[in-house]
Amino acid sequence: MRLLVTGGAGFIGSAYVRTLLAGGYAGYEDASVTVLDKLTYAGNRGNLPERHDRLEFVRGDVCDTDLLRQLLPGHDAVVHFAAESHVDRSIADPSVFVRTNVVGTQTLLEACLHTGVERVVHISTDEVYGSIASGAWTEEWPLAPNSPYAASKAGSDLLARSYARTHGLDVSITRCSNNYGSHQHPEKLIPLFVTRLLRGETVPLYGDGSHVREWLHVSDHCAAVQSVLTRGRAGEVYNVGGGTERTNRQITDLLLRLCGASPGQVRHVTDRKGHDLRYALDDTKIRQELGYAPRVPFEEGLAGVVDWYRANPDWWQASAADRGVAA
Ligand code: NAD
Repeated sequence: MRLLVTGGAGFIGSAYVRTLLAGGYAGYEDASVTVLDKLTYAGNRGNLPERHDRLEFVRGDVCDTDLLRQLLPGHDAVVHFAAESHVDRSIADPSVFVRTNVVGTQTLLEACLHTGVERVVHISTDEVYGSIASGAWTEEWPLAPNSPYAASKAGSDLLARSYARTHGLDVSITRCSNNYGSHQHPEKLIPLFVTRLLRGETVPLYGDGSHVREWLHVSDHCAAVQSVLTRGRAGEVYNVGGGTERTNRQITDLLLRLCGASPGQVRHVTDRKGHDLRYALDDTKIRQELGYAPRVPFEEGLAGVVDWYRANPDWWQASAADRGVAA
């Protein structure tokens, strides 16, 4: 078994690859993996082992057809994490989001078809549904993305579906809620707040902090991706939720406590343009069909993440961009 993982040097992709190489997925203990990653500001080669006999690292772009057609033969499956992923950046400069997320995904799907790759998992996001005041989205909910990031992810998500419907490509799509974990770039809400609080600095809280997100530990997301890879059905979408709903204000209060910081370190800033108020997923389908259930209790998982950032200042101090607040 040989997998190609795009975006495997980023936050979630690297968690997936590290677990795979550590033998964490049953039946895949001997699987080899090729990581294809452009190493943008968000990618970090140090997130993966420097050397491992089952890992090959290729620095490259998912928009590069020639590279993909050369690389893909010999791979049994592709897990597609690569994307531009920060909502604030998509508001400031959406063009790279359309290029990587839409064109890159279409280029990859076409290359998979051309080279006969048998199985593909496309990693989408709950943000494609828009915002929901009450209740929770099922997979049948219409897509109504609000940010350029979410719109570009909706485009790639629908392209994946179209390759299943039109060409019979065996591709499944996951739509997950907000992830938290180690190795997340400090532009995103939790690592941004943790790293600033640990340095004794203030944190910028958007608006009144009432925005609600559903937080899932990255290891639970990766386990769901693995179950979709091995047992998901072609052309089907799987919501990956079951995390913990919290307002940004509640997250901030928890982080203040875990970092030993004071309430005076919170500074309210003008709300993000078009900020989605609430995300919530109905994940009945993946629970019933694939036996998925998240394992990491939120407060325990979050404490572990704070400990990781506290113990690894070299990792996050090397990341230049530590401004902005994420979804
Ligand atoms: P990330 O920004 O940490 O990592 C993205 C990776 O993709 C980086 O290593 C980057 O170098 C690479 N990349 C970017 N452009 C590329 C290109 N053109 N060619 C090859 N590689 C490229 O993102 P993440 O948080 O790990 O998210 C991974 C995937 O999961 C994304 O598709 C994202 O939309 C999705 N997702 C993320 C979350 C979340 O909470 N972070 C939730 C749901 C879904």
